[in-house]
Amino acid sequence: MENADITIIGAGVIGLAIAAEIAQPGINIFILEKNPTYGTGISSRNSEVIHGGIYYPEGSLKAALCAAGRHRLYEIAAKNNIPHKKIGKLIVATQPEETEGIEYLHKNAQANGVNSTELISARKVAHLEPNIKACSALFSPETGIISAHDLMNYFLLQARRKKAELVNCTKVVRIEKQARSYRIYTQSAKGDTFEFSSDVVINAAGLESDTIANMVGGNYQLHYCKGDYCSISGVNKSMIKRLIYPVPVKNHVGLGVHLTIDLSGRLKLGPDTTYISRTEDYAVANQKVPLFYSSARKFLPFLKEENVSPDMAGIRPKLQGPNDNFHDFVIREDLPGFINLVGIESPGLTASPAIAQLIKKMLTGKQSWE
Ligand SMILES: Cc1cc2nc3c(=O)[nH]c(=O)nc-3n(C[C@H](O)[C@H](O)[C@H](O)COP(=O)(O)OP(=O)(O)OC[C@H]3O[C@@H](n4cnc5c(N)ncnc54)[C@H](O)[C@@H]3O)c2cc1C
Repeated sequence: MENADITIIGAGVIGLAIAAEIAQPGINIFILEKNPTYGTGISSRNSEVIHGGIYYPEGSLKAALCAAGRHRLYEIAAKNNIPHKKIGKLIVATQPEETEGIEYLHKNAQANGVNSTELISARKVAHLEPNIKACSALFSPETGIISAHDLMNYFLLQARRKKAELVNCTKVVRIEKQARSYRIYTQSAKGDTFEFSSDVVINAAGLESDTIANMVGGNYQLHYCKGDYCSISGVNKSMIKRLIYPVPVKNHVGLGVHLTIDLSGRLKLGPDTTYISRTEDYAVANQKVPLFYSSARKFLPFLKEENVSPDMAGIRPKLQGPNDNFHDFVIREDLPGFINLVGIESPGLTASPAIAQLIKKMLTGKQSWE
């Protein structure tokens, strides 16, 4: 491998979206991935929801990039036959005390420039979704679902067409700052080592993005926050047509155990939020079943506990610790030519094309990229 103009660390949806956006013939771009293939990290363990941008504080990167990313994602998906569906979502108040919560979200959505949300009565909820229980709801018609893997395939194809190169089984283990570039040391699973220099480094390493940033003097600490899912079986899939969410708790840790539908119509509950130690543990305990059942039953009255069983899990890379308030994405050039993307949790999938456009703007003007 020769020296690089730009090195992207991490081949998840963020690294691949960036590669697709910035690659151009004549520029040496390497995407380094520690695993044998791309898209096996956070990007393969999520709800695959194209978020509306309702929850995030006004002025935050999460709000702006979610809205911009959503528009772009629908365009990309429609133009390139990436499986997706704009199925809409309801955030339901199951008791009158929760009405205040959905009114707040409605105002917040408007402050974020999301003007399509609508507060709807119990009657309209019953018309849209006759099988759920709600005394009112916030309807988000712009929310949808997408195949994350097909999206990543598309980004990778675009990047490769423009001569970016994906290098699998290559873990970045050390980085040294040099006068005008960075020396990158890598190791394969077999222990083979390799080093090269790169003018620009883009750190999109997901759950390890703090470790990478800290290799060159950063001071980040990610908290791992696990989200378990349970699947629903033995229920007629056509009973629910939209994503159904409860009113979330106020600290933005998660959105509350909700009902998601994948592109094959399969129903799932989750994800919940549990801070864990720094291990990639994806097991879902049987004990989660009664907890998910009792949360979901508030808005899915037809549900029986025997319909619910443990399914998959994902891990959020959170800058927000267990007792902290909201924390935004960090997308920052911390050293000249070294861009860190840290804490890219939800709505990272939705925001991915907008994040890529932002990185392109940050790079414009750099000698290696012009
Ligand atoms: C439970 C859950 C549900 C979610 N639901 C949604 C949703 O519905 N909608 C939405 O918009 N967002 C959602 N998200 C967020 C979204 O999934 C993430 O923001 C996005 O996938 C992050 O992508 P990434 O590329 O940053 O990380 P990853 O996909 O993890 O990619 C990072 C890559 O870096 C590699 N890597 C790490 N360290 C190194 C190293 N030292 N050297 C080389 N490679 C390395 C990893 O192997 C990995 O492949 C959810 C997240 C979770 C956890």
